[in-house]
Amino acid sequence: MSCNQSCIYPTTGAAPNTFMSAMQFFMTAQCLVQTKDWPPEMELKDSEVFDFIIVGAGTAGSILANRLSEIKNWKVLLLEAGENPPIESDIPNLSTSLYGTKFDWQYTTTNNGITNQAYKDGKVPWPRGKMLGGSSSMNVMAYVQGHPRDYQSWFNEGNTEWHPDIVKQYFRKAETLQDPVRLSIPRVYNHYGHNGPLLINTFNGTDDSLDANLLSALDEIGIKNVDDLNTADNFGSGKFTATVSEGKRVSTALAYLNPIQSRKNLKIVKNAVVTKIILEGKYARGVEVNHKGTKLTLTAKREVILSAGSLNTPQLLMLSVSKAHCSYIKGPMT
Ligand SMILES: Cc1cc2nc3c(=O)[nH]c(=O)nc-3n(C[C@H](O)[C@H](O)[C@H](O)COP(=O)(O)OP(=O)(O)OC[C@H]3O[C@@H](n4cnc5c(N)ncnc54)[C@H](O)[C@@H]3O)c2cc1C
Repeated sequence: MSCNQSCIYPTTGAAPNTFMSAMQFFMTAQCLVQTKDWPPEMELKDSEVFDFIIVGAGTAGSILANRLSEIKNWKVLLLEAGENPPIESDIPNLSTSLYGTKFDWQYTTTNNGITNQAYKDGKVPWPRGKMLGGSSSMNVMAYVQGHPRDYQSWFNEGNTEWHPDIVKQYFRKAETLQDPVRLSIPRVYNHYGHNGPLLINTFNGTDDSLDANLLSALDEIGIKNVDDLNTADNFGSGKFTATVSEGKRVSTALAYLNPIQSRKNLKIVKNAVVTKIILEGKYARGVEVNHKGTKLTLTAKREVILSAGSLNTPQLLMLSVSKAHCSYIKGPMT
């Protein structure tokens, strides 16, 4: 049925044509939204040797692959169980539609009968991204730097690389602040970096009245409005910064992998599930991978880096450690 036929009012045809054109415009626009320049499919050969093998192209893995492959004579392999993110990952408000799909590891808690009462079956979903960018391709994008006092306490415990001044340098190296309001405030401008791959902004709303009312209510009860949550003392209220630009998600894959995908010393392989770390005593020598149904064994001359997320990293270690290793690990500690 055409638009013309469905309307009960008399028409010259101009109105239905206009609405039809608008619909066609929006249908075409969805193709413009999607990020297209993801790294291409790359093949893997059995017994290939690399300097570094990175497991998981998520938040951490994408950055590691970028930084390590800056050294031209290091051969780096990045293995990712998932594939390219779908269009819904690009559109901030649609990221929850990825939960429970093939772009999510689909973990749930088990029903312990006590804590999960809000769910009928007692299972709480725990979304974890399974795609380039990992959970940074489906998270809420809040860009929160953490409080310097926390880093100071880690430093005080003896972690000399975590001094707040050092951490701040790395934040600045990563960032490009884009939000025009924050850029216009000198103190905030000076806090952020301006040449990094990670684009920092705020969400554009079509109706700011709800935000404004909420912020004024918070201010009134003493949670004072601040111009930037990362530069204030983290106590206050305001719009949070987000890894978003031009209304689209900036995942670490978009920021750190897409621009360097043509580096000759970097191989990015999707649909590659690492099933085991090959251990020799206390050293990791390589990995076993299931790549599109084929089992491959790969060697790392320098390091195997596990950045498979907070659930899969320990799972992979548990799958890799034999009873002999357990006694080896237990030995020196007892
Ligand atoms: C729904 C949601 C909302 C969130 N909101 C925010 C937020 O607003 N702000 C914020 O700062 N943080 C947020 N987080 C947390 C943040 O996204 C994570 O802390 C961060 O992404 C973790 O990074 P990671 O590198 O450790 O793991 P991930 O980014 O999850 O990456 C792990 C990668 O390893 C891959 N992988 C796993 N196992 C294997 C295997 N065996 N072989 C090969 N590849 C494998 C995975 O597919 C994945 O791509 C949110 C997280 C979620 C899930």
